Amino acid sequence: MWWLDTVAMFAIALGVTAVLNWAALRPFRRVAAAHWSERARLLWPVRRGAAIAGVAVPLAVWRVMFRTGHATVMEVVVSLLAVFAGGLLAGFVVHHAAFPQRRLREWISLMLCLIVLRYGPFFAWLFTGISSAFDMAAARPWLGVAIFMQLFVSSGAWLWLLRGLGLMHRGAPELEAMVRELAERLGVSVKHVWETAPVAANAVASPLWRAVVVSRETIEVLAPEELRSILAHELGHLGEPRRVTVLRALGGCWSAPLGALGWAVHGWGFAGVALVLATMVIWLRWTLRLSRSEEHRVDAVAREAVGSGEVAARALEKLHAAGSIPATLPTAQMTHPSLFDRMLAAGVTPDFERPAVPKRWGVNGWASLAVWVAANLMNFRHH
Ligand SMILES: [Zn+2]
Repeated sequence: MWWLDTVAMFAIALGVTAVLNWAALRPFRRVAAAHWSERARLLWPVRRGAAIAGVAVPLAVWRVMFRTGHATVMEVVVSLLAVFAGGLLAGFVVHHAAFPQRRLREWISLMLCLIVLRYGPFFAWLFTGISSAFDMAAARPWLGVAIFMQLFVSSGAWLWLLRGLGLMHRGAPELEAMVRELAERLGVSVKHVWETAPVAANAVASPLWRAVVVSRETIEVLAPEELRSILAHELGHLGEPRRVTVLRALGGCWSAPLGALGWAVHGWGFAGVALVLATMVIWLRWTLRLSRSEEHRVDAVAREAVGSGEVAARALEKLHAAGSIPATLPTAQMTHPSLFDRMLAAGVTPDFERPAVPKRWGVNGWASLAVWVAANLMNFRHH
């Protein structure tokens, strides 16, 4: 009864990850009445830990429970999907603690979108590279998947999928009027103004499709002039030169060198692997630098259009509070300076002390890695 085992694996992956996530929330639960910046600081490591636990625990469960001896490919795939689904669902424990108003269904669709957009091309290129190291012919379907994924993500075609799935709809007339007025002032053309379900507080712009997307939560938490400053920023992206749009799309392909892994290994062995990894790291760093300088330019454009850096800083503070994003973060991982520094730069004195930088991972991150190591040791002894 392999399917019964699969259900058991799903339940155990879900249960163990959920317990670890719940336990890691202890410091956060103790500051329920504190300022949002303190709550966000303590939630952050738990969120990052949940991302690790959601992968490490399922892998551990699979390693211990799956009988590899006479399994078909289908059984391997279904059981892996089952454990990862359990690990992913357990992340809702953390999300619900921070955002009790958001619903499970919306959260699941958000997570699936994020996973595909953020990790889809990376894993597709990785599988292409690994399978081509063993067998060039077997890697061909993976190469097709990788190219499709990369085009889907880099081209912004995913926006149309969300639109088709009903997760996005046309913005309300007031929102559209505000965008059109600002666009005229900035001298940029806009084709689409879209609103998304309240899954996250933020806004994005797609220069290629000339679209501005705003979440309903962003509209709800901001005063009109604050919303205007956020929209001015997004419209600033639509005004970027063609050259920058192309470079940014190229930058998004930073994981593509992984696809050449097999070819590099056959040619140069270990040096080939190092070459692929080095290319990827340089490409990624270059991409981050490009987007950082672009954000600076866009911020200046928005300041010009809206007139006040102070309003923009207040808007950012509200979005950080609504999304529970810490006011200080290690700058190396980010395209923007931390909120606290951006407020000071705009001449706004925050009504809270500079918070310490959040810890890297919560207990769930470390504990799940320990579970994974233990599972591998256990399995090693079996053989
Ligand atoms: Zn931006």
